[in-house]
This record gives sequence, structure tokens and C-alpha cells, in this order.
Amino acid sequence: MVQDQQGEILLAIKSDSRKEMKDASVSDLIMEYFRKHPKEDLKHDPVVDYVEKRYLKLYKKKSRDTWRAIRKLYQEGVLRKVKKGVYRYEPGLTKHRKLPEFSLAIKNKIFKRDGYKCVICGRGKEDGVEIHADHKVPIQKGGKNSLENGQTLCSEHNILKKKYSQTEFGKKFMIKLYKDSVQKHDKKMMDFTKDVFSVYEKHGIDNQIKKPDFL
Ligand SMILES: [Zn+2]
Repeated sequence: MVQDQQGEILLAIKSDSRKEMKDASVSDLIMEYFRKHPKEDLKHDPVVDYVEKRYLKLYKKKSRDTWRAIRKLYQEGVLRKVKKGVYRYEPGLTKHRKLPEFSLAIKNKIFKRDGYKCVICGRGKEDGVEIHADHKVPIQKGGKNSLENGQTLCSEHNILKKKYSQTEFGKKFMIKLYKDSVQKHDKKMMDFTKDVFSVYEKHGIDNQIKKPDFL
């Protein structure tokens, strides 16, 4: 058992160092096959056979994780899943991506834990806003559909969050707070947000987002 685990770890390290190249080529070969058969429901075996044969010819070694690469293409929205083990390529439809979501039970737990309110602005159903369960770490970046990885956001903040990473989102939010505080002549909040900007600067985080010009 221990040996098995070590073997797996070694394999993981080995495959990691070559991952980019290997992944790219396997994905390319998968897409080569799907592009030859657009708008067809394709099963596991013929796709894998094709990719493995092509790969062996090209690299003189066996390809690995072909099936996982197909699933990844599906998660990235390139392929459509028809049913378990059957995928389909629809040229031009790649924008309609669908990622795995929280289960209803987890969603309700997230809402309950957060008091059915947006964790950013504190608004909820009583304020007439819709609430959403958001992934703190996105699925594409390895985030899980777990209670710990979930947070409640209102529609407005959910859209903002989807557009930006966590830290970018934070900085944008601070910019909004800063502008509000200038309008309200709220010196305390102005000083606070200025300090936050300097923390971003100190750590070199999100320099691409320009902080407001201070008066
Ligand atoms: Zn909100």
C-alpha cells in the first residue's frame, strides 16, 4: 500500500514536469478527432483509441489520461456532455459553458451559514436582492463544491466576483468604498481604504488595477 502510494507520488511528480506539453498534445489530438466528427455523439472508446494510436505514432510512447483530458475539455466548455461517457463537439457553441455546481443541500447550508445575506454588502432577500452561492476558489482552479469553498453573494457582487479574481475583486471593492467615502466626506473610511491600497502596493498585488488618484 505504502509502496503504491509512493509510486503514485513519483508518477505525479514526473507527469507534472511534463504536464503542459503532454496535456496540450493529448487535448489537440482529442480535438482533432472531435473536429472530424462535429455534431456527433461520440463514445469513449473510439476517441481514446484514435488519440492513443496517434500519440504512439507521434511520440513513440503511450499517452496517458486521455479520458481525463476529454473531461477537462468539457469543463472548459469546449465539448458538450450528452450523457455519462458521451461527448459532442458543436462548432461555435463553445461559449455555452456549464461547470459543475453546488448541490442544493450544500447551497442551502452556505446560505444558512451566511445568514441568507451577501457576505460583501450584507443585503439579502428582505432587501429585495437575489442571493447566489459562489465558489471562493473557482472550479476551474481546483475549487471544490464544498461548504467551505462557498460564500453567499448578491447578484451585483456575484457578477463582479465572476469578472475578477478574489484579490482583484477586493481591490475593486475598496475603490468603490473609497469613492463613496470621498462623496460622504467620511475621513475615517478614506484613510482606511488608502491604507488598504498601500498594502496591495507593498505586496505587488493587482498592479494592473489603478488605484484612485488621491486628493
Ligand atoms: Zn452584495
